[in-house]
Amino acid sequence: MTAQLIDGNALSKQLRAEVAQRAAALRARGIMPGLAVVLVGENQASQVYVRNKVKACEDNGLHSVLEKHPADLSEAALLARVEALNNDPTIHGILVQLPLPAHIDAQKVIEAISPAKDVDGFHVASAGALMTGSAGFWPCTPYGCMKMLESIGYELRGKHAVVIGRSNIVGKPMALMLLQKNATVTICHSATPDLKAMTLQADVIVAAVGKQNVLTADMVKPGAVVIDVGMNRNAQGKLCGDVDFAGVKEVAGYITPVPGGVGPMTITMLLVNTLEAAERS
Ligand code: NAP
Repeated sequence: MTAQLIDGNALSKQLRAEVAQRAAALRARGIMPGLAVVLVGENQASQVYVRNKVKACEDNGLHSVLEKHPADLSEAALLARVEALNNDPTIHGILVQLPLPAHIDAQKVIEAISPAKDVDGFHVASAGALMTGSAGFWPCTPYGCMKMLESIGYELRGKHAVVIGRSNIVGKPMALMLLQKNATVTICHSATPDLKAMTLQADVIVAAVGKQNVLTADMVKPGAVVIDVGMNRNAQGKLCGDVDFAGVKEVAGYITPVPGGVGPMTITMLLVNTLEAAERS
């Protein structure tokens, strides 16, 4: 292996220790930072995600409330719950776990969350703040990727970053964050005709597609930094990313593993955002 590993578990541990310290400082001033996690329905993966988020809060000195609602909860009832949480002074961050049942307009629910409590960073006000470089909450997954780059002391100024994927929660905000750090950014997607021609030019590649082996060794410039956001199951049912880790680690300068890479960083940045929300309040 030539690439150095960027260990998301180790970095998370360090950042969570800082969160715990800041949370203790807030508690000493009589403020208990609080996160509300709202789950609608029985989606198996979502249940695991929310459990992990609540546990991460408990482990690091944050207060959390898990609201579980039946799958047939009406959109109006969910909007009313969000409004109640907006007005609850013990809650600093609100997270509505996605996906929501089909009868609920997810974007409408996200827009109902107060931007001051939008710790997922999905509200249009948060997206606008990122776009314009003003204060707001950054979406946790790309924010975690930025922290990983920061952890290796990587200078983005003047580098070429290629982001594969353009979703509102990962690809687009990722590209904006890299741009803000003065990288030259290319965004690739399913209509990009020659992905390899793009990635071969990249100093940094962020793969956020959701397909195994989208990025293989022949597509990577020697020494490039490769961040793998993907979460997929391989033929054996094992968790894997978008990157052919075995091949790419022989070419890249740095690489993130799956599992143990971006995944734990996402929850860590949720804690950071929640704490930030409590501090701002
Ligand atoms: P998404 O909304 O499905 O977006 C996928 C993107 O990939 C789209 O922009 C799509 O292009 C593009 N794409 C699809 N096939 C492609 C191809 N062959 N070549 C280039 N681009 C292609 O997914 P997402 O929500 O951004 O998530 C992406 C992956 O990250 C998933 O595996 C997800 O599970 C994972 N994820 C992980 C975390 C974490 O904490 N580790 C958090 C969030 C997401 P079009 O726009 O043209 O369709």
